[in-house]
Amino acid sequence: MRLVILGPPGAGKGVEAGRLSQRYGIPHISTGKILRSAVREGSPWGKRTKSFWEKGELVPDEIMMELVRLRLREQDCKGGFILDGFPRNLIQAEGLDSIGREMNWALNGVIDIGVSQEAILRRLSNRRVCSACGAVYNLITAPPKSDGICDRCGGKLYQREDDRPQTIRRRLSIYRKEIKELHDYYRNQGMLIDVKGNGDAEAVFEEMIGKLRLEARCG
Ligand code: AMP
Repeated sequence: MRLVILGPPGAGKGVEAGRLSQRYGIPHISTGKILRSAVREGSPWGKRTKSFWEKGELVPDEIMMELVRLRLREQDCKGGFILDGFPRNLIQAEGLDSIGREMNWALNGVIDIGVSQEAILRRLSNRRVCSACGAVYNLITAPPKSDGICDRCGGKLYQREDDRPQTIRRRLSIYRKEIKELHDYYRNQGMLIDVKGNGDAEAVFEEMIGKLRLEARCG
């Protein structure tokens, strides 16, 4: 199964994509996560992209296309994947279709998680991430047992540079600008699956699974 998950920053795409990945045994590919670890490790990809995401700007499309093309060619993507954070605009969506044509597959569906702006600001400013294993916490809804320490591995928690209020506003305004054409693009192809994202993670997941089944897009 080949899926894309869309939604504003803080919609819970990462959590829901992780659940889909487990349910269907397909890799969860988060371009934001790939970029963050590339920067942390100081890899060549990190050096090429750091300056963009630190400011909350999108990384240039040609760099992202190269990164995604390479990732989707890896062995674990043979049986499908769930893409989170890509595509972000029409150029990337068309690019993804052309990667599919090159590799002889088409997407099965595009899930769109809708969340109110108020909920997004609340969620993002309280998000903390483990610097060692990448686990995600929310200081209000899913806090760690000890302050600033990861429950899973004992790593130190940090606030993402791009989760600070000024950067959040910038990311949301970029998102709103880009998303409309992306919605239109996938809706016109009958691919868009709308899911309400204001509820808890479990409710969102159940709605997602139900709609995927209903549309007989997967087994
Ligand atoms: P995310 O974790 O998906 O919110 O991504 C964090 C940051 O990584 C974004 O603000 C962008 O700077 C960059 N990024 C991730 N995915 C993409 C993409 N598809 N196109 C351009 N930039 C991206």
